[in-house]
Amino acid sequence: MIPYGKHHIDQTDIDAVVDVLQNQYLTQGQQVPAFEKALTEYTSANYALAVNSATSALHLACLALGITKSDVVWTTPITFVATANCIRFCQADVDFVDINPSSRNICPQALKEKLQQAAQKNKLPKALILVHFAGFSCDMQVISDLCQQYNVKIIEDACHALGGLYLADKSKIGHCKYADFVIFSFHPVKSITTAEGGALLTNDKHLLKQASLYAKHGVTRDADLMQGEVEGPWSYQQLTLGYNYRMSDVQAALGISQLIRLDSFIQQRRLLAQRYFDALAQLESQSLIKLPSAEQLDFSAWHLFAIELNGQNRLEVYNALLAHKIQANVHYSAVHLQPYYQQLGFKSGDFPNAEAYAKNTLTLPLYQTMTIAEQDYVIEQFKDVLCQNPQ
Ligand SMILES: *Cc1c(COP(=O)(O)O)cnc(C)c1O
Repeated sequence: MIPYGKHHIDQTDIDAVVDVLQNQYLTQGQQVPAFEKALTEYTSANYALAVNSATSALHLACLALGITKSDVVWTTPITFVATANCIRFCQADVDFVDINPSSRNICPQALKEKLQQAAQKNKLPKALILVHFAGFSCDMQVISDLCQQYNVKIIEDACHALGGLYLADKSKIGHCKYADFVIFSFHPVKSITTAEGGALLTNDKHLLKQASLYAKHGVTRDADLMQGEVEGPWSYQQLTLGYNYRMSDVQAALGISQLIRLDSFIQQRRLLAQRYFDALAQLESQSLIKLPSAEQLDFSAWHLFAIELNGQNRLEVYNALLAHKIQANVHYSAVHLQPYYQQLGFKSGDFPNAEAYAKNTLTLPLYQTMTIAEQDYVIEQFKDVLCQNPQ
């Protein structure tokens, strides 16, 4: 079976993990701080906090920004549900901004209009959570200027985008110059893996301390933060209600080892993406499919290669590929139409661009260890299937 995505573990990864298992702390040793340092070096962000998932990191970012019951936070409907759920973890209200059909990211013009309307009604969001869909950056210069104008905080959900580049200057995604927080995931389908795992990056020391407090039970050993007399080296104080969102040293050792190969992973993904563009251009010119915009090639981390069908029955195309041992996928069903979000009042027609995209999209296999022969096989089968399932 050719899956839509797959991790790559080599002997150096295995050795790094075994070394921790045999010789060191399993958790709260030196590996987690070393991984955090490596992440800041890679991205040029000031601070990183490694945690047990990106979902936890998103929750921590919301907590650290003080998002609570009376607040509203906006995000995109085309993402994994965790991006919106972290807002609900804090009891705040969720609203969405429609996507641009070309980038599949939040549309800056739609954002601008929604902000203008919200300002008139005195209902501005406290924060905006952006997703760099499939690994392709949102237009962060325009969006961060807009958010600054209306005093809206920014969280970049960069779970697809570790190793990708910003549009303005091709700097690495994650440096936090456009956002209060940038979030990465190390789930096995993402750019690098720690099995489960995630990280939160920020340039603001106070925000880091807040997030770190919530990640560790609300407990501190920092004498500066403790109240009253500190009795001895064993002393700690719980200052707020927190969680156990720590990453283990076993996971961090794997992360350090994987991060060394990140750029080579992205290079391989770009090469495969370019080959898909070349091989499928003809189908696009026949209006059988829509490819991602070609400008993405130089910037995206290519977490996903998501195309859009044009009139074909998606289930039939999916099943025909599966019969040839090719497992496509769908990223994503629009979040606002999930039953949970429909119960909150969202309905079909609310975000037309997102809904049109979600209805037709199909993710073709793309991962760093995919061979040219495997990709050629996928291309050949996909072309066959489309010719047998015309519009
Ligand atoms: C994978 C993913 C998440 C969740 O990541 P976990 O590490 O599995 O919690 C959140 N947002 C997006 C956009 C993702 O792709």
